[in-house]
Amino acid sequence: MLVMKFGGTSVKDVTQIHKVLEITRGRLKRKPVLVCSAHKGITDKLINAGHAAASTGKADPGAIFEQQRAVARAAGCKDELLEPFYREIEDLLRGIALVREASKRSIDYLSGFGERMSCRVIAEYFTRQGLKAQAFDAFDLGYITDENFGAARPIQGYEKLMAEEFAKKVPRDVIAVITGFVGKTQKGDLTTVGRNGSDFTATCFAAGLGAEECEIWTDTDGVMTADPSLIKDARSIPVMSFAEASELAYYGGRVLHPSTLLPAIKRNIPVRVLNTNRPDHPGTVITENGGDNGLPVTSIAYKENQAVITIESTLMLGQPGFLARVFDVLGRDGVDIDMIATSEVSVSMTCAELPNLNAVVKHLEQFGRVSLVTDKTIVCVVGKNVRDQKGLGAKVFTALRDADVNVEMVSQGANKINLSFLIDDSAIPRAIPALHKALFG
Ligand code: ASP
Ligand code: MG
Repeated sequence: MLVMKFGGTSVKDVTQIHKVLEITRGRLKRKPVLVCSAHKGITDKLINAGHAAASTGKADPGAIFEQQRAVARAAGCKDELLEPFYREIEDLLRGIALVREASKRSIDYLSGFGERMSCRVIAEYFTRQGLKAQAFDAFDLGYITDENFGAARPIQGYEKLMAEEFAKKVPRDVIAVITGFVGKTQKGDLTTVGRNGSDFTATCFAAGLGAEECEIWTDTDGVMTADPSLIKDARSIPVMSFAEASELAYYGGRVLHPSTLLPAIKRNIPVRVLNTNRPDHPGTVITENGGDNGLPVTSIAYKENQAVITIESTLMLGQPGFLARVFDVLGRDGVDIDMIATSEVSVSMTCAELPNLNAVVKHLEQFGRVSLVTDKTIVCVVGKNVRDQKGLGAKVFTALRDADVNVEMVSQGANKINLSFLIDDSAIPRAIPALHKALFG
């Protein structure tokens, strides 16, 4: 079995959906199962309508229906196909407008309609084109999650449930078109795995169904050496390891959702990233051991809008347990630390620019003088053997100096494959091209 995930741009309209059909047709021998996103733009429209209903007291699904209807009609679907979803969206928006409150739970319920509608359209189109397909909501096939709305994760043992439900519900002669992104709690509330999370849904299904491979179909030729919107001559990376791809995804590589690889790693299922618009391009294959691309590093990623919290305190000096207490406070405030640097009497830590950081600073003031700076970017250079390469640091920092970029914090050595450092957000357009040139020629 082959799990194939198609993202929002890959199913954005009938032209794209037709490409998906042809790609699927070419893989019938491998027993494809599809996991699909909403048509690009629909999820944003659903979420915006939810927040607008809460703030204005008015339910306005107009923009959602307009786009969804246009895609469905162009694909030859009758309006009735999606009518029940439209009614439910109207009811839900009316409810949100009445209580003037868009809770995480309501937003999850609402934003999941995008995938549920697109999968109906895709399955119906496929069937009319002679490829018998059927749409399924992931939660009807065992995708049961915890109650962490907005970032829900499947419950323990979901793999077994998934395999059972799939065997029970999916007829042998149809292609299952399964919703990415959405799940359901054991109590029956709808959840989502978080924005851009359909990749993760796909690898969960690959794990649960014991697929031979999971293909992630997107709009770039696999994982690239750097963000192609910034670097015109960014190159596709033929092979990489789970560890390298995880670091890249976490540190802002734009192609994969950060959690994507976890289920694949657990079951050792290769993940292949491919381009829907250039299906013959080999893309990137991500496996346990990766491989040698003949270059010193694999890729450069960056994550902007980071904050740095610094605590200066003589209390630290020779005090075992100091950092444990600091991290206890951070943990309770829900702050996830990425980079950390310490000296005898100070510690600097980076995290995302969360809305509650001013409160966090107050809570940390019990430990010493606390400062907060924002608008920083973590840049991460990933490669199979970054730690053991003589002169790589010199190359990286010389390139940055020549591009007039100041480096504020550095982290290397926690694993073999990653060198990361902190710069200003505003330095991205200088730093990334300079690094790409220095490292990839
Ligand atoms: N449709 C969802 C989003 O836009 C999930 C996804 O596309 O992966 O975030
Ligand atoms: Mg995506």
